[in-house]
Amino acid sequence: MPKKLKFDYKGSEFLDKIVKLSGEIITLCDQCGTCSAGCPFVEEMDITPSQIMRKVLIGDMEVMDSQTMWICASCFTCTVRCPRKLDVSKVSEALRQVKLRQAVDKMDISDISAEEAKRLPVIGLVSSFRKLTG
Ligand code: SF4
Ligand code: SF4
Repeated sequence: MPKKLKFDYKGSEFLDKIVKLSGEIITLCDQCGTCSAGCPFVEEMDITPSQIMRKVLIGDMEVMDSQTMWICASCFTCTVRCPRKLDVSKVSEALRQVKLRQAVDKMDISDISAEEAKRLPVIGLVSSFRKLTG
């Protein structure tokens, strides 16, 4: 039985897609780790922001199963600190777009009770649906 490959060798195609969607030249990332060190949400993430960059760069499709893209709050802390001026939040956004285009919704309106809908701020609901649905 052929061994399952960890990496998708169409990786460069995937990298091209994420570069196009994000507008970020991911190949510039030198894996300095500054983004991961400063991210206020890194403890909630299963892989760090710099690992996101690395996985996209080498075409490791496991990145698509990571929760990090959903947890990134686009706070831009990493962006202002990155020595290469890369915006990890745009890469996360591009990954979310790829996932959501597969008709995967991370949030279902029917899961919100009438009581919760009354209590939750409208701006929070609207931004959540923008971020988490296809
Ligand atoms: S701070 Fe910038 S260069 Fe350093 S690992 Fe993060 S994205 Fe790459
Ligand atoms: S933009 Fe995302 S990855 Fe960057 S520091 Fe903020 S939460 Fe972390």
